[in-house]
Amino acid sequence: MNISKDLFGKIPDGQEVHIYTLSNRKGMKAKILNYGGMITQLWAPDRNGKYQDIVLGYDNMDGVLADRYYFGVVVGRYANRIAGGAFNLDGKQYKLARNDGDNHLHGGIKGFDKVVYKAEIVQREASPSLKLTYLSRDGEEGYPGNLSVSVYYTLAETNELSIEYAGTTDKQTVINLTNHMYFNLTADFEKDILKHELQINADKFTPIDAALIPTGELLSVKRTPLDFTKLTPIGSRIDEDYEQLKYARGYDHNFVLNKADTLSPAAKVYEPTSGRFLEVLTTKPGIQFYSGNFLDGKGKSKGSKIVKYRSGLCLEPQHFPDSPNKPDFPSTVLHPGRIYNSKTVYKFSTRK
Ligand code: BGC
Repeated sequence: MNISKDLFGKIPDGQEVHIYTLSNRKGMKAKILNYGGMITQLWAPDRNGKYQDIVLGYDNMDGVLADRYYFGVVVGRYANRIAGGAFNLDGKQYKLARNDGDNHLHGGIKGFDKVVYKAEIVQREASPSLKLTYLSRDGEEGYPGNLSVSVYYTLAETNELSIEYAGTTDKQTVINLTNHMYFNLTADFEKDILKHELQINADKFTPIDAALIPTGELLSVKRTPLDFTKLTPIGSRIDEDYEQLKYARGYDHNFVLNKADTLSPAAKVYEPTSGRFLEVLTTKPGIQFYSGNFLDGKGKSKGSKIVKYRSGLCLEPQHFPDSPNKPDFPSTVLHPGRIYNSKTVYKFSTRK
């Protein structure tokens, strides 16, 4: 495994942004920016051994700065929504930006997707890792506590990309970090992802209201279009007359993983034409499956191509949306003296 570094561009205040290429001997590679921790390219093999880029992304700084879809970035401090842009903690109310209707989404106006990280190459496992660090100051985007975060990206010879998140704070705060890659395993971003087959290791999901905020219940996926307990084409039920799908204009739901805490299989995706097979493993209790319903043809991605409707799917391992306001959901509170730690592995292989 090798990591190389090149200049990618500059942000408006003049700070340089670098692109790091993680590559293994098989031919897999990941290109990652220290701006937003953005994965701009991820090359994985098809069943004939051909490596191609399978994530939506940008090839220049202008594209990155104009991003409206969270392509490949670290989302934080809090991935997904916080209802009303407010929560109570330790007897105080904290007010956050309302950047999604009345609600707070993905850490606010300038979340962890829009900051420059300090980057270094460190050796922790058999392969070197790209380590990105960032100090989010007390009060940033309304959140309490100086929060110091590290994100480690490691590409193994086994075609596994792992992302590990760590965080510490000096005041009680909430934290929920994930990555927002959009996969299209055909490697043709003109195509939609509706023929990809998906399996999610979840018997339950957290139903949402019309503003995509969880109601607080856990519902069984049985006899609903959210039953992905077996590999099922994403498009086979997406247009069914089911209220949950109408609210989200497709899939945009948090699934309650059957096994959490330890690194466990969460989801699988198979793309029949290329044979590409992706397995996602995580330590987190939930995973957001988002079928790219808000990819609206307005933005442009690599090669200046228009971003097509549903041309990418996200599988975002996370804590449940709006947990700071839902006492029955697993807690996202981080206390001083404790370490937040979570890990996700994206494993690529092929099937005949
Ligand atoms: C959310 C979507 C949102 C998207 C933004 C996803 O994580 O679940 O509702 O539109 O991020 O790109």
